[in-house]
Amino acid sequence: MIGVLGFLGLLLGRKYLPFRLVLGLALFWWALLVAVHSPLFPQPNGAGEVLGGGLVTWLALAVLTVLVSGYRMALAGLRRRARLRVQEVGLPAPGAFAPAELDRYARHIMLREIGGAGQKRLKQARVLVIGAGGLGSPALLYLAASGVGVIGVIDPDVVENSNLQRQVIHTDSRIGTPKAHSAVAAMQALNPFIEARAYVRRLDAATAELIGEYDLILDGSDNFDTRYLVNRLAVAAGKPLISAAITQWEGQISLYDPARGGPCFECVFPNRPAPGMVPSCAEAGVAAPLPGVIGAMMAMEAVKYLTDAGEPLRGRLMIYDALYAETRVIGAKPRADCPACAAAD
Ligand SMILES: [Zn+2]
Repeated sequence: MIGVLGFLGLLLGRKYLPFRLVLGLALFWWALLVAVHSPLFPQPNGAGEVLGGGLVTWLALAVLTVLVSGYRMALAGLRRRARLRVQEVGLPAPGAFAPAELDRYARHIMLREIGGAGQKRLKQARVLVIGAGGLGSPALLYLAASGVGVIGVIDPDVVENSNLQRQVIHTDSRIGTPKAHSAVAAMQALNPFIEARAYVRRLDAATAELIGEYDLILDGSDNFDTRYLVNRLAVAAGKPLISAAITQWEGQISLYDPARGGPCFECVFPNRPAPGMVPSCAEAGVAAPLPGVIGAMMAMEAVKYLTDAGEPLRGRLMIYDALYAETRVIGAKPRADCPACAAAD
């Protein structure tokens, strides 16, 4: 059966030789086998006996090979089409929405002030939140739920038992884990279509380049040093800043945006309080839902800013007194002698 051995040799040789050459040699070998058994030569002949097989055997082999190859090619084609369809469903083009996202954000998209264009702007936006505490918790959750594309959260602390009275993004089971990681886990669990990034560190001048990577900064930190520093960094980078603060029963919030005509945080609060003069939440206490109210307002102002909906809090400071259920809005103007933003104009 030298005829069969020839094909086996080519089968082994296809690892080392180009596919076209192996295919050519196989066709030539097959034609030779058919020819020596064909009526072109007197039958039987010596060559036919040496190579083996018969005319019917070698013709049947050709038919079988064509059938098997055709079946395999059709199968590969089906697989390729199925893969393409999976890509269409699972991975929409950059900036486009998957059907599950359109369903998720339908109640945003039907709002005249947001619509499909606004939702797309949210998806393309990058927001950095300073602090995953009382204010950061609701702000981060609502930013994630709203579909903000990239959300960064920076916090050096770990989750503690006493945080859970108001820092609702964390859970009892995550006590001891870094707040930034806990917040990212909660956001990704809420909305897998967004990207959440954790920075387990304090925002200082060395990590200032982070600010440049984002479109909008939300400051929910709990100390004046960070608040004044974030303001300076945001002013220097020309980034809008939504900053809020709470104590006991009262909260305040504003959009500080000197690059677009508004005052900065330092314009409104030029005098840094002496250390110890303004007690922190740990020292003075705070009503549990208060950071929920003000933190949700931060996310609301962020969504408005990013979608250009309504009137932002630029140049206006909103003060909420929870104990008497009163809200006041006072105007604020840029100060010509502001050490933070006057030089930047
Ligand atoms: Zn200023």
